[in-house]
Amino acid sequence: MTQNTLWADRDLAVVWHPCTQMKDHEWLPMIPIRLAEGVWLEDFDGKRYLDAISSWWVNLFGHRNKRISAAIQRQLGQLEHVLLAGFTHAPVIELSEQLTAVAPAGLTRCFYADNGSSAVEVALKMSFHAHRNRGRVNKTKFITLSNSYHGETLGALSVGDVDLYKETYAPLLFRPVTVPSPDAYLREAGVTPEQHARNIFAEMERALEKHGDEVCAVIVEPLVQCAGGMRMYDPVYLRLLCEACNRFDVHLIADEIAVGFGRTGTLFACEQAGITPDFLCLSKGLTGGFLPLSVVLCKDDTYQLFYDDYLKRTAFLHSHSYTGNPLACAAALETLRIFTDEPVLERNRSLAQKLSNELSDLVDHKHISDVRQVGMIAAIEFVRDKKTREPYPVSERRGLRVYEFALSKGVLLRPLGNVVYFMPPYVIAPDEIELMVRVATEAIDVATR
Ligand SMILES: *Cc1c(COP(=O)(O)O)cnc(C)c1O
Repeated sequence: MTQNTLWADRDLAVVWHPCTQMKDHEWLPMIPIRLAEGVWLEDFDGKRYLDAISSWWVNLFGHRNKRISAAIQRQLGQLEHVLLAGFTHAPVIELSEQLTAVAPAGLTRCFYADNGSSAVEVALKMSFHAHRNRGRVNKTKFITLSNSYHGETLGALSVGDVDLYKETYAPLLFRPVTVPSPDAYLREAGVTPEQHARNIFAEMERALEKHGDEVCAVIVEPLVQCAGGMRMYDPVYLRLLCEACNRFDVHLIADEIAVGFGRTGTLFACEQAGITPDFLCLSKGLTGGFLPLSVVLCKDDTYQLFYDDYLKRTAFLHSHSYTGNPLACAAALETLRIFTDEPVLERNRSLAQKLSNELSDLVDHKHISDVRQVGMIAAIEFVRDKKTREPYPVSERRGLRVYEFALSKGVLLRPLGNVVYFMPPYVIAPDEIELMVRVATEAIDVATR
């Protein structure tokens, strides 16, 4: 027995894994990871895997990044945790100062939770409650885009639109108003992504006209619908949306949990549309991929709607036990310091260009219908029929073949259905980008045979 199988057997006897049909592991090896460094993961038998998806999009500056590790070590010598009600600590204060300084202008307050879904719950409740505190008790609905994803807790799942995760739980969920996504993949031939976004926006305008009085907020993933298959859209949509939300007295919630912290080329995706949302949800890369933490930033006028005498009962009484954990805040602070001390976005521009060059030949592949990229996110859509874009049936699980083949070649890809994507840590080297794309190409060849 190898070390890998020993650990895998112990795992499969007691652990229930996320987003997994556990029966698959009767034939699909569970991979126990012993060690990681930079973009590389190493299993118990010494085999290495390039983490091309940043361990579910959380890692920014490599595994065991020295600066972030040291910051957590320093914090461990001072304070591991204290409740954040009635008490505070330096890391949460400094982090809030830094976040409000770098976020789109006007976002002046930070409310913390410990994962992305919880941040979405906070934003939904806070939006509803803010309207209620100003007497707008009819505002009880939310507008969302088709194919959107905002997490797995019941509220977050309600405003999402990926059937695979949602359908089973439909009887438990509240119903948002769902408006077609500006997804550029769905545009007609000859239409630019910008034109397409403008055209599709008419549907949002109609929904706001019809439901505006009862709607608390529109929630969107700025620029990239990640879990929905890395579908991308033009920033003009966000600009039109922000303007319309103001007009209809509806909040805009920007869920940048996946796209924040430089993924799309700017620190936050909203910057590319020049907008300030009413709520900005951040998590994943917030701590550089070290510890669970999330935050919702909001504007001062929202904050003031809750600020009153206790007996008026306007306070936001939401809480999580680990709200604003000092170790996680220290990791996040160091992550932000790396952005200020090093030319991260500039370096990413040249890495993104390298990735784009490596991908350029793939558009001619006979089973690839689209190659798209924004900053450090790139995606390849493979299909049965290139001309009609007819996808392979989900039941064939061809993405899983890509996963297996790539793993055998030492690259961790985790396709979303028939979409193979790259979201590597920002410390990936040019030759590692070449390896990653070469293996993905071979994997798609194998999976489409
Ligand atoms: C991952 C993700 C979430 C949920 O975050 P968790 O930490 O997994 O709960 C919410 N929104 C978006 C856009 C995400 O990508």
